[in-house]
Amino acid sequence: MIKPFEKKVWLSSPTMHGEELEYVKKAYETNWMSTVGENINEVERQIAEKVGCKYAVALSAGTAALHLCTKLAGEKLYGMPKTSEGTLQGHKVFCTDMTFDATVNPIAYENGEAVFIDTEYDTWNMDPRALEKAFEIYPEVRLVVVAHLYGTPAKMDEIRKICKAHNTLIIEDAAESLGATLKGQQTGTFGDYNAISFNGNKIITGSSGGMFLTDNKADAEKVRKWSTQSRENAPWYQHEEIGYNYRMSNVIAGVVRGQIPHLEEHIAQKKAIYERYKAGFKGLPVTMNPYSPDSEPNFWLSCLIIHPEAMCKQVRGDSEVAYIKEPGKSCPTEILETLASYNAEGRPIWKPMHLQPIYRINAFVTKDGNGRANSNAYIAGEKLTDVGADIFQRGLCLPSDNKMMAEEQDAVIEIIRKCFE
Ligand SMILES: *Cc1c(COP(=O)(O)O)cnc(C)c1O
Repeated sequence: MIKPFEKKVWLSSPTMHGEELEYVKKAYETNWMSTVGENINEVERQIAEKVGCKYAVALSAGTAALHLCTKLAGEKLYGMPKTSEGTLQGHKVFCTDMTFDATVNPIAYENGEAVFIDTEYDTWNMDPRALEKAFEIYPEVRLVVVAHLYGTPAKMDEIRKICKAHNTLIIEDAAESLGATLKGQQTGTFGDYNAISFNGNKIITGSSGGMFLTDNKADAEKVRKWSTQSRENAPWYQHEEIGYNYRMSNVIAGVVRGQIPHLEEHIAQKKAIYERYKAGFKGLPVTMNPYSPDSEPNFWLSCLIIHPEAMCKQVRGDSEVAYIKEPGKSCPTEILETLASYNAEGRPIWKPMHLQPIYRINAFVTKDGNGRANSNAYIAGEKLTDVGADIFQRGLCLPSDNKMMAEEQDAVIEIIRKCFE
């Protein structure tokens, strides 16, 4: 008999080490309680060095970084808009479909129109074949936003090749994948504009925060300026363009600074969790979230996907879900509810953007063409026409907290095994 966990087992919670508090204290004691200070300078220097880029600009959130990436791209492609318009005014942008909405929303901030590109089974990221298809349908598109889901690098070689052939800029959303590499190259360095996040549940955290990464000095300077209300170099507050209050606080930077030395250790812990699940699920009709052999993920979240023949009926509406228990079968809902009853936290896969009410009218392209034409994602047991809806239907994120003990994880594995009885 497994007893419920006395202390909640989290999906992914902050893992602090003590140094964070020292740097925060230093900010306090020297009175750099502001958006300037040594912690900010240091985290920018250290992250640029770690990731292997020339410039890093510390911002209030990964979303802020993505917004300024998007604005830079829009300005470069289409020039400066009128103040009432966004830089992408009316232009289509190709974007990862199965991701957190923070990847996509900045396109709307700049008045662009996201076109969602379907997912592939190999890495759960943007499918290069669907991207190729999208260029056949919309050859005018000049910008692609790619995310690395759950810390697993997307197929950037293929994606970059396609983008190059179509003379397209790339925004890389590496919010979940700091420290992950593809052929030895760090994610966050593949795009023309790159963003990372220090949100509370990411691989390292500042409690919040994010960064813009680039090798382009002018872009870094622009982002720095935009993020501090676009002040011109003048003796008074002079403004020639729209500004934002997006700079990172020196207190938050203190937390990030204390976390940076622990990035590799966090990745090693997350990898051990992934491997323990993989071994523990032997014989079950499930597979772990996959990655290509030429990549080394940061294993931020361990996920599983249930084989089609082992799925019991599960129907999801906009806010409700139902399933019918069948012997020998299970579904993400049953597993998540059972984990919760034992005081452990799992999470559904990111619900694809093309299925979100807010983006219902946006185009969606699969490797076979128009993904809106024949999607029957919600019909359990039938052949699904888009990969994102299928992974959302059959997959889930497992408790992946760095501080989870091996015995706790073994209990989680046992609880999941029982769901298939
Ligand atoms: C967390 C996350 C973001 C946003 O980062 P914040 O720092 O929370 O604004 C963007 N994209 C993805 C894929 C994320 O997981």
